[in-house]
Amino acid sequence: SHVLHAYFLVPFIIHSLVFMTLMSSRPLPNTPNEITENNLCTDTICMKTASSDYGKLVQELPFGVLRPSSVSDIARLVKSSYNSSSPFTIAARGNGHSVRGQAMAKDGVVIEMSSLKDIGIRVSGNSSLGFYADVGGEQLWIDVLRATLQHGLAPVSWTDYLYLTVGGTLSNAGISGQSSFHGPQISNVLEMDVITGKGELITCSENTNSDLFYAVLGGLGQFGIITRARIVLDKAPTRVKWFQIIYDDFAKFTKDQEYLISIDHGFDYVEGSLIMENTPASNFFTPDDESMINSLASKKGILYSLEAVKYYNDEIINTIDEELQVIFKALNFKSEFIFSKDATFFDFLNRVRAEELLLQSLALWDVPHPWLNLFIPRSRIADFNQGVFVDIIQKQSLSSGPFLVYPINRKKWDDRMSVVIPEDDDDMFYTAALLNAAGPAVDPAVIEEQNKKILEYCNKAGIKIKQYFPHYTRKLGWMKHFGNKWSAFKERKEQFDPKLILSPGQRIFNSD
Ligand code: FAD
Repeated sequence: SHVLHAYFLVPFIIHSLVFMTLMSSRPLPNTPNEITENNLCTDTICMKTASSDYGKLVQELPFGVLRPSSVSDIARLVKSSYNSSSPFTIAARGNGHSVRGQAMAKDGVVIEMSSLKDIGIRVSGNSSLGFYADVGGEQLWIDVLRATLQHGLAPVSWTDYLYLTVGGTLSNAGISGQSSFHGPQISNVLEMDVITGKGELITCSENTNSDLFYAVLGGLGQFGIITRARIVLDKAPTRVKWFQIIYDDFAKFTKDQEYLISIDHGFDYVEGSLIMENTPASNFFTPDDESMINSLASKKGILYSLEAVKYYNDEIINTIDEELQVIFKALNFKSEFIFSKDATFFDFLNRVRAEELLLQSLALWDVPHPWLNLFIPRSRIADFNQGVFVDIIQKQSLSSGPFLVYPINRKKWDDRMSVVIPEDDDDMFYTAALLNAAGPAVDPAVIEEQNKKILEYCNKAGIKIKQYFPHYTRKLGWMKHFGNKWSAFKERKEQFDPKLILSPGQRIFNSD
């Protein structure tokens, strides 16, 4: 175990050494007076946080860190760069849960959004016009949940994990098992305050400054810094019925998933995941069920677990089970392969936190995360299963995920938003989240190699995937990614951030 322990420490030692070397051998950055006038933090803690993220794959030192106490501090910083003869780059850092340096700004300024306090979370509205919350872009979704539940309300669209900021997820899309029914989080925003790359604070919505509104949603931080978002709320349920249904046949699994997202009044959340011999234990199953599932997985090689959740409250407590039976009748699974749990709405939404705390206690959370997230045309999902899940992931058995796969309804994804999804006109597409962690037994380079193979396979097989949390190092890659949206994306950049100041860590306009 000493060897294991030492092995474990190696990445951290290397990380710290690289950091110290970076700090001591920094070239003198191009520092116009404007950058130094902004009262930046350059101490080790500020710099270390700003130059790292959840992925632990990229490390880039900024010139300094701004800890704004108000929205106007941010506007002033952006304006000073915009008006400078040599503008410096600026990245808003939400909770730094990107995996490839997207919230970093080499030799520029990172804004530590968490120090903002002026907006907070304010619930308004009424039952006839609807409820909403005005929340600061720096707020964590877990805090939005806690605050809105006090009013018996909650946002309708979520991510699996809630320790992410509103500004960070709205810059991507924000997806989870609710996305099929309510759209992604970016489809549930009524209005935003945004500081553009010119340092102007602009309120935007579907009807006012709508160009900026749609640019920012899924805009990878390229057009402005979100300081306030008005989020749609609905009456919150109190409890959930939570199911995992195990399939050994991918076609039956996806057919049932697609059915469940196409009916009204069915489940409120539908996802799915892979179970293989080396899949880490889940706290959903009892130890007995777990060992039965594992032995089946080792026999079959790969199993698929459909995860579905139905919300309820006291009003329907007597009819909920009957309702569920009607839905289950239309599905195609064996009765011994359905597992259930009853949980509070809060515990269900906050489910990944328990896993995080467990992994943290095992020192397995702060490790490199070479993640690959893809959107896949529905018409090719069976090929993707064979070519990627079976032939690459299962057969090579290099990594243990978790691997998520589920369909999403397209209808609530507004094409005016910057986010990119498959370009076909099918009313559904799939998401596959390959959430590998490196650690004592797995070198991140091995997973990166596997990711490369997966992308190459899709390319060769003509599966027109789109990356979610896209990462490209060449302009050509970005142009292909945006496809028919590239020219609009570029025009919006010229309009809202003409000096290419914002979120340089995405490497879109500063790649070759
Ligand atoms: P950061 O990493 O800090 O920033 C991301 C990007 O947004 C950067 O380019 C940054 O400059 C920009 N940005 C940050 N704040 C603002 C702002 N206020 N205005 C404008 N731009 C801003 N995503 C999902 O969709 N569904 C999931 O279920 C899901 N689960 C996850 C689980 C885990 C454990 C992790 C680590 C990530 C998960 N994600 C999920 C991904 C997550 O949504 C993105 O990584 C998101 O960007 C993280 O938010 P953040 O606040 O940490 O953003």
